[in-house]
Amino acid sequence: MRYADAADPVITLTAGPVNAYPDVLRSLGRTVLYDYDPAFQLHYERVVEKASKALRISGKALILHGEPVLGLEAAAASIITPEDTVLNLASGVYGKGFGYWAKRYSPRLLEIEVSYNEAIEPAADAAMLKQYPEISIVSVCHHDTPSGTLNPINEIGKLVRAHGAYLIVDAVSSFGGMNTHPDDCMADIYVTGPNKCLGAPPALTLMAVSDRGWARMKANPAAPRASMLSILDWENAWSHKEAFPFTPSVAEINGLDAALDLYLGEGPESVWARHALTARATRAGVKAMGLEIWAASENIASPTATAVRTPAGIDEAALRREARARYGVVFSAGRGETLGKLTRIGHMGPTAQPIYAIAALVALGGALNALGHKADIGKGIAAANDVIASDH
Ligand SMILES: *Cc1c(COP(=O)(O)O)cnc(C)c1O
Repeated sequence: MRYADAADPVITLTAGPVNAYPDVLRSLGRTVLYDYDPAFQLHYERVVEKASKALRISGKALILHGEPVLGLEAAAASIITPEDTVLNLASGVYGKGFGYWAKRYSPRLLEIEVSYNEAIEPAADAAMLKQYPEISIVSVCHHDTPSGTLNPINEIGKLVRAHGAYLIVDAVSSFGGMNTHPDDCMADIYVTGPNKCLGAPPALTLMAVSDRGWARMKANPAAPRASMLSILDWENAWSHKEAFPFTPSVAEINGLDAALDLYLGEGPESVWARHALTARATRAGVKAMGLEIWAASENIASPTATAVRTPAGIDEAALRREARARYGVVFSAGRGETLGKLTRIGHMGPTAQPIYAIAALVALGGALNALGHKADIGKGIAAANDVIASDH
C-alpha cells in the first residue's frame, strides 16, 4: 500500500509548522468579530494577559500579526542602529540567518560560529565580550531547529547583561515545550510564536520586551513606525482602550486563545515533561536502531525535535518520501547547511506524546529498510518503550 502525495498524511511529525490541537482548530472557527467591537478589544486584552502569564513576565506580552520571522526581523530593525556592534551567536541555520538581518542595520557585525551540531560555549561568548568591549547587542537562537540543538541562553544572558549589552533571543521552537522564559535568560527582546510547541497555526509572533529594551527602541529614531515591522506601534495595543495600528489577525487570536488555555490548563511543567519524554524515547530508539543523533552530545539535543543523521549512502529526500508513502508519516528535512544531512522528528504541541516516538521509529526504520539500509525496528521500539515504561 502507498499513500498518495495528493492526500493528507496520517501523522505529521514535523518540527513546525505542526498539526494544531483540535481545540485550537475549533477556536479558529469562532465568530470573526469587528476589531473595534468592545467584545473583541476586551478579548484581545485577555489573550495578551494569558500570553504574559505563559511567558511569566510582569509586563505585557506583545503580539505581532505575522509568523515569528516578522518578529525577528522587526527586532533587528527596531533595536539595532549603525552605531551598534552586534555579536551574533550562530550554531545553526537560524542563528546564522539573524546575522544577515543584523547586518542590514549595522555594518559592525561580529560572529561566533560553531559547527552546526554543536552549541555556543558561554566561555567563548565571555571571551568575545572581553575582547570587544564595544559589543552593544548580542543575538542568539535558543533551539536552532534545523539542527535540533540547544544553546545555553540563560548562561549567555547573564554574561550579556553583566556586559551591559542588549540580548535578542529567538525562542520560537523551544518556548512552550521546555522550561524557558524571557526573564530566565534576561532577554531584552524574546521572540516566539504559537506555531511550534503551543500547537497553533503559523501566523503570529509572541514577543516579550524588557523595560530597557523598550527604552532603547524608543530612543532609536530609525525604529520602524507605521510599518509592518513596527514593534513600537503595538506597545499599547493590548489595552481594550487603545486603537490597533492596523487590523489584527482576529481568527488567529482566537486560535492562540485556545492554545494558551490548553498550555496553562494542562500545566506548563506537564507539557514540558511530555516533550522531554517523547524526545528521550525517540533518541533511545534511534540509537538502538543503529542510527546516530545529529547533536554532538545528548546534553544539547532538543526536547522539541530530534535530528537524526542520514546514514552514509542514503538519499535523505528519498527517506522522507518512503516514510510518507509507506507509513503516511511526514518528517522535516534539514535546512540550508543541514539539508540532506539529517531528518527531523518534531515533538511539538500535540505530537509531543510518547506514543509518537514509536510511530516515528517505525516509519523512519521502515523507510531506511526499504532503501536497503538495515535498521532494527524491533530493537528501536523496545528501547523507546523502556524509556516510556520507566517514566513515572
Ligand atoms: C520556526 C522557526 C522560526 C520561524 O520561521 P519559519 O518561517 O517558521 O521557518 C524562527 N526561528 C526558529 C528557531 C524556528 O524554529
